[in-house]
Amino acid sequence: MLLRLPTSVTEARECLAEGAVPIGGATLVWATWQRDGFPELAMSLRELPEANVMGRERVGGAVVLHRIDERVPDVLRLAAATVGTGAVRRTATVGGNIVGSTLRCLLPAALVLDARATVLESEGVREADLAEVVAKRPVLIGLSWRTPIASAYRKLPGEAGGAPPLVVASALHAGHGAPHLVRVAVRDGYEVLSGAAPGGTDADETLDALRGTALGELPPDAWDVVRPQVTGLLESDGTD
Ligand SMILES: Cc1cc2nc3c(=O)[nH]c(=O)nc-3n(C[C@H](O)[C@H](O)[C@H](O)COP(=O)(O)OP(=O)(O)OC[C@H]3O[C@@H](n4cnc5c(N)ncnc54)[C@H](O)[C@@H]3O)c2cc1C
Repeated sequence: MLLRLPTSVTEARECLAEGAVPIGGATLVWATWQRDGFPELAMSLRELPEANVMGRERVGGAVVLHRIDERVPDVLRLAAATVGTGAVRRTATVGGNIVGSTLRCLLPAALVLDARATVLESEGVREADLAEVVAKRPVLIGLSWRTPIASAYRKLPGEAGGAPPLVVASALHAGHGAPHLVRVAVRDGYEVLSGAAPGGTDADETLDALRGTALGELPPDAWDVVRPQVTGLLESDGTD
């Protein structure tokens, strides 16, 4: 296997056009490749500046999870901090998690931030929404979003070898003249459901409106986690 390390978007496009398979920290692919055989050409984005940014409103696809710190909203920082073990977080990347894993603990966080993805295609770089990223699995250069007023994340404890633990993520976004907006995303099993509702001072109203979205399908025990999180979010008046 030849591993290419493009240092510019132009070089990365060339690698893609040559059929290079993207690789992050190889925490998932290594075992599969050892079993099924290695691809001829792979490409890591770890030398590509655009894929290594870390800031208040963006994170690159090649950023390793343990580098995600308090510069980003709480919801994303906490999501990254609860993926796997310390050893996994020191190696696994944002791109590998959102595009390449089945658990995708970062996805609910990215959804409530209403994040946009920057993806690489052989024709060039373009923006895509998260639904497209999950469905088509393009090469992820990075994610960007607007800083919310506040955000929260909770992952219930899981049992080794058991079903994926429930994840609840939420963010309160400024309305800029309109009512604030609460976005909630829940991973229940391997499925991620999300919804949004106006977020005022009456948490019950917001929760009722959220029940009218796809989140209404969630079982009662998931709502037991959603309810206090949304109530706490509406009570928070600081920025995160
Ligand atoms: C012990 C253990 C525990 C784990 N626990 C959790 C957990 O609690 N929550 C959770 O969400 N995940 C968990 N995972 C999965 C973990 O998220 C993935 O291993 C990791 O995110 C994959 O990242 P990577 O950079 O190593 O990807 P790689 O293994 O390098 O690649 C995985 C896939 O993603 C593709 N890929 C990589 N980078 C990109 C990119 N930039 N754009 C497009 N495609 C890309 C690759 O082509 C490949 O198909 C766990 C994994 C392990 C080994």
